[in-house]
Amino acid sequence: MRDFSNDHSALALNTATLGHNLPGRGAGWSPEQVIDACAARGYGGIVFWQRELGRAAAQIGDRVRAAGMEVTGLCRTPYLTGSEAGTDAAVTESIDTAAALGAPVLTIVTGGTELGSKGLDDSRKRLAERVAHHADHAAACGVSLALEPLNPMFGGNRTCIFTVRDALDICDMVGKDNVGIAVDVYHVWWDTTLAESLLAASGHILGYHLCDWLENTRDMLLDRGMMGDGVADLKGIRAAVEAAGYNGKCEVEIFSAVDWWARSPDEVLDVIVDRFRSCC
Ligand code: ZN
Repeated sequence: MRDFSNDHSALALNTATLGHNLPGRGAGWSPEQVIDACAARGYGGIVFWQRELGRAAAQIGDRVRAAGMEVTGLCRTPYLTGSEAGTDAAVTESIDTAAALGAPVLTIVTGGTELGSKGLDDSRKRLAERVAHHADHAAACGVSLALEPLNPMFGGNRTCIFTVRDALDICDMVGKDNVGIAVDVYHVWWDTTLAESLLAASGHILGYHLCDWLENTRDMLLDRGMMGDGVADLKGIRAAVEAAGYNGKCEVEIFSAVDWWARSPDEVLDVIVDRFRSCC
């Protein structure tokens, strides 16, 4: 297991952590301000959200690399299933944006249950079909697709995969080399079969997302904790992720409307470095 106590070069910022994912949240820093602030603190990478980039994806990617960091990934495709599923053209646009940005990984939050269906089988079948449909174009663009299982409380409208095992099942159904999974501690910390499932995921883990699960979560979407403030076994989960062969960036992704989004981005970025070294 890697030792981060004196080295945070594996640290990446997901810009949602600064509140950028919702209009009117956070300090509203531009991508350029975020890049400069992360580079000044020795971050190793940044993950952007498509809505932040407009038509400037290529320039923003170049700026990240010129600052000595990598673009770790892009969030995310439109939903692929459920009543709010996006069009094929919108999914292709996400893939093309990731390619322009130079992001090797594009995250998929699947979307919820298919209209009129009960249970999950129809939704997962549709999900696998849509991922397979887009995987070849993504591969031609040098982009891998990372299926992110979400905590079961997001079933219904946001996801139809809840565990690492669920995500791997979709990977098997799709059968494409550039389709894998993203592991987010917020979504998987509770899973007592996680270590075993992660071993089966060896070679398929494309991303690892950090935050913490607060003992008393006040809002299931927007009250994620800073690493060290909650009850997730962050070192234990990372040990299992690395035992499965993952040695990429660790991406801090904290949606926190009532706490961290209300603080100055400079403070948030400093605390992240400290917690990353001491708690993760
Ligand atoms: Zn995540």
